[in-house]
Amino acid sequence: MLTASESALARAVLVHGPIARSALAHSLALSPASLTRLVRPFLDQGVFIERPHMVDGLVGRPVTPLDVAPEWGRFAGVKLTGDRAYAVVTDARAEVLVRGERALVSTEPEAVCELVADLVGDLLADLATSDAARLRAAGVSLGGVVRGGRAEFAPFLDWADVEIAPLLAPRLGVPVTVENDVIALTEAEHWFGYGRGIPGFSLLTVGAGVGHGLVVDDRVVRAAAGADLVGHVPVAESGPICPLGHRGCAHMLATASILAECAGALGRPAAYDELTDLALTGDERITPIVDALAEALGSLIALVAGLTQQRVVVLAGDGIGLFAAAEERVQAAIAAARDPRADPVELHVDDSGFSAWARGAAAVAIQAAVDRIVLGKSSAV
Ligand SMILES: [Zn+2]
Repeated sequence: MLTASESALARAVLVHGPIARSALAHSLALSPASLTRLVRPFLDQGVFIERPHMVDGLVGRPVTPLDVAPEWGRFAGVKLTGDRAYAVVTDARAEVLVRGERALVSTEPEAVCELVADLVGDLLADLATSDAARLRAAGVSLGGVVRGGRAEFAPFLDWADVEIAPLLAPRLGVPVTVENDVIALTEAEHWFGYGRGIPGFSLLTVGAGVGHGLVVDDRVVRAAAGADLVGHVPVAESGPICPLGHRGCAHMLATASILAECAGALGRPAAYDELTDLALTGDERITPIVDALAEALGSLIALVAGLTQQRVVVLAGDGIGLFAAAEERVQAAIAAARDPRADPVELHVDDSGFSAWARGAAAVAIQAAVDRIVLGKSSAV
C-alpha cells in the first residue's frame, strides 16, 4: 500500500498529468528533493513516465512533465443500468480503446456478472493480444448506495446487499472495484471532462433519477455516496406528484415522470427522442411541460450552485436531451433564482452518453489499482 504522500502524488499525476514537477511540488507542498525521492519508484516501476520536453511558460525553460504511463495497464469500466451494461476498456490514462454494450437478460447478480464478464471478454478480444493480456483491474458503477464495494441498495437492479466484486473478479481474473455511478461519473468529469482543471464543481445527472456529484478543493466528495439527497428537493410550486408523494420535487425531471406527463398531454405514449423532436419544433402540447421542466431545472441548478458555493455545474445523463430545446429558459431561471451580485453559474452539458459513465467506472478502477501499488517490489495490482 502507498503512504499518504505517495497516494497524494499518484492522485495528482492521475488527475492533472501531464504536470510539471514544479507544479506538483507546489500543489503537494513538497521540496524538489522530496518530490524527486517520491517520484523515483513510480518511474522505476513503469507507473509514471516523463513526457517529452515542453516549455514552461512561467519559468521560460524546458521541463519534463510527469504523467501516468498509458501502457501501465488496461482497465475495464462497466456502467450498469436496470436493463443494460455499457462497457469500455481503457489505458491507464483512461483513454477509451474499445467500447460496447449489451442488454441484461436478468438482473440476478450471478447472471449480470456472467454477462459483464462475457462483454468485457469480447472487448478484450478486439484488442491486440498483448493489450488484452495486461488487463489490470475493472470497475463497475451502478445507481444506488454503494459502501465498501457492497451494493447496499440498487433500486434499478432490484438489489439489496449484493457483493459484486467476489462474483466478478474470478471471472475476469483481476480485482474489481464497485462504485456509485454518479460518484464514478464525477471522477470522470474531474479527470478528463468539463471539470478538468477546475478545483470545484457540481455534477447534476438527469435520467432514471436525479443525482448530484460534488468536487470541492480538487477532491470528489464521497460522504454520502449514492444516497438520494437531491432527487426529491422541492423545485416547483406545482407539477406532478412523485412516487414518494411530493408535488413539484426534483423527481419531476426524471425520465419516467416526463414520459408520463407528456403522454397525458399527447393522449398517447411517446418515446423520449420523439418528445425531444416535438419540443424542438415548439409543439404546443409539449411546450408548457418543457417550459415548466426548464424552470424547475434552473431552480435546481441555482440551488445546488448556491448551497455548494461552486459556480460551475455540469449536466449529464440520458434525460438532458429535452433541455436543448429550453436552454434559454433554464438560464433565465438560474439567473432569477441567484443573487445578481454572485458570479454567474457556468453551465456545461455533457451529452457523451453512457460510455462516459463506463469511463468513469474505469477511472475508479485505475485509482484503486494505483492505491494497491506496492512500491519497491515487483509490479502488483
Ligand atoms: Zn419526490
